[in-house]
Amino acid sequence: MIPAQLAEHIIEVTYLIATALFILSLKWLSAPASARRGVLAGEIGMTLAILGTLLNRGIVDYKWILIALVLGAIIGVPLGLVHMTAVPQRTALSHAFGAFSVTLVGSAEFYLRSPHVTPFMMSVLSLEVILGSLTVTGSLMAAGKLQEVLPQRPITYRGQNIVNLSLLALAVGVAIVLVLHPEYRLLFPLIVILPLIFGVMMIVPIGGADMPTVISLLNSYAGLSAAAMGFVLDSKLLIIAGALDGSSGFILSVIMSKAMNRSFTNVLFGAFGQVQVAEKGVAEARPVRSATPEEAAGILAAANSVVIVPGYGMAVAQAQHKVRELFDILTKRGTDVKFGIHPVAGRMPGHMNVLLAEADIPYDRLLDLEAINPEFPQTDVVLIIGANDVTNPAARTNTTSPIYGMPILDVDHARTVMVIKRSMSPGFAGIDNELYYLDKTLMLFGDAKTFTGEMVRELGKNRNG
Ligand code: NAP
Repeated sequence: MIPAQLAEHIIEVTYLIATALFILSLKWLSAPASARRGVLAGEIGMTLAILGTLLNRGIVDYKWILIALVLGAIIGVPLGLVHMTAVPQRTALSHAFGAFSVTLVGSAEFYLRSPHVTPFMMSVLSLEVILGSLTVTGSLMAAGKLQEVLPQRPITYRGQNIVNLSLLALAVGVAIVLVLHPEYRLLFPLIVILPLIFGVMMIVPIGGADMPTVISLLNSYAGLSAAAMGFVLDSKLLIIAGALDGSSGFILSVIMSKAMNRSFTNVLFGAFGQVQVAEKGVAEARPVRSATPEEAAGILAAANSVVIVPGYGMAVAQAQHKVRELFDILTKRGTDVKFGIHPVAGRMPGHMNVLLAEADIPYDRLLDLEAINPEFPQTDVVLIIGANDVTNPAARTNTTSPIYGMPILDVDHARTVMVIKRSMSPGFAGIDNELYYLDKTLMLFGDAKTFTGEMVRELGKNRNG
C-alpha cells in the first residue's frame, strides 16, 4: 500500500505530465508530419490520467471500476476499428458516452450534496448537467443520421428556433431556481430531461451531410461539460482537459463553418445545414471540352508544374493509391507536383490529409488553401480529382450563390485545368460549377480511380517508349 502523502504526490505529478501531454498532443495534431506523435502523446496522457485517478484514496472498492474498464474495452475496441468513412459517427458516439458519464456524475453529486450546495457549485453543476444531457441526445441523433439509421434530410417547421430556444431557456430558468434554492430536489430532473429533448430537437433540422460540423460543436459542448465537472470534483486535470476539448472543438467548428460559408450564429443555434439546392432543373446543357486518358496523360507529361486538388470523389472512389502512383511517375519525370488541400474537401475535417497520408504522399507536398492559392498563376496544370464545390469560382463572384463568400482554391488561375468526375452532376452544395465551361478547362469523365489508373498507364508507356 502506498503511503497517503506519496500517493498524493504521484497523482499530482502524473496529472501534470498528462496535462502537458494533452497540450502537446493538440499542438502536434495540427500538422500532418507530427500528427502520429500527437495521437501517441494523447494516448499516453490519457493512460497516465487514468492511472493517477486509480491511486485516489477516495476509491473504496476497485471491483466496479474493473467491471467498467472491461465493459469499456469491450465497447471501445470494436469502435476503434471502424472503417475511416464511419469515423464521424464513431466520434459522435464517444461524445455521447463521455457526456452520459458527465451527466451521471453531475446528478450523483447533486443528490449527495443537496441541500448544502453553494451558489457557485450549483451553477457549475447545472452547466455540467445541461451541456452533458444535450450532448448525449444530440450526439446520438448525429450518429444516427450519419449512419443513416435516422432520416438524413433536415426536418424543419415554422418557429423551430423559438421552440428550441424556449426549451433551453426553460432548463436555464430551472437551473437558476436551483442555484437560489438547492433544496428543491424535485426540480433537478428537469435540468436533465429538458436538455435531453433539446438535444434531439437541435439536430432535427440539420441535414446528414452537415453533421461533421455539428459533431465538432458537440465535441466542444462535451469538453465544456467535463470542465464544469472538474470544478465540481475539484480536479484540475478535468478542468484543463475539458477546456482544451471545449476550445479546440469550438475553434474547429468556427474554421469549418467559415470554410463552408455558414455564419457563426447559424452554428451556435444549430439550425443550419439546409443546403439550398440552387437552380436545379434549369441547368442548361452547355458545351464543355472533354479529353481521354491518353490526351490527359500527354498534357501532364508536357507540364513542368502540376497541382492535384483532391475532393470527395477521390474518397468515394478510394483513388488515393492510384493518385500516389501518378505522383510518383510525374515526380520521376522531373515534374513539380503539389497537392492543394481545402479545409472542407471531402466530408470530414482532415479527410484528404488522412487519405493521402494513407497512400504515403510526402507531407511537405500537401499545401493548404492559403499556401497554394498564390501558386496557381504559375502552375501549368491543375488536376482536380473528384472535387467540385471547393473549386467553384461562383464563391468569389456570384452573390446569389449559396456558397458565395466561401474561400475556394483559385484553380481557375492556373494555365490549364483538368477535372476528373463521372458526369456534370453537382457536388454537396447542389450547384453548377462555372469552372467546367472555361476555355482552359478539360473534363475527364470517369471514375476517379479508373481514370487516374489509365493516365498512369499512359504515362508509363510514354516513359518506356
Ligand atoms: P463535392 O463538392 O461534394 O463534389 C464531389 C464531386 O465528386 C462530385 O461533383 C461528384 O461528381 C464527384 N464524384 C463522386 N464520386 C466520384 C467518383 N467515384 N469518381 C470521380 N468523381 C466522383 O466535394 P468537395 O469539392 O470535396 O467539397 C466538399 C463539400 O462538402 C463542400 O461543399 C463542403 O462544404 C461539404 N462538407 C464538407 C465537410 C468536411 O468536413 N470536409 C463536412 C460536411 C460538408 P460526379 O457525380 O459527376 O462524379
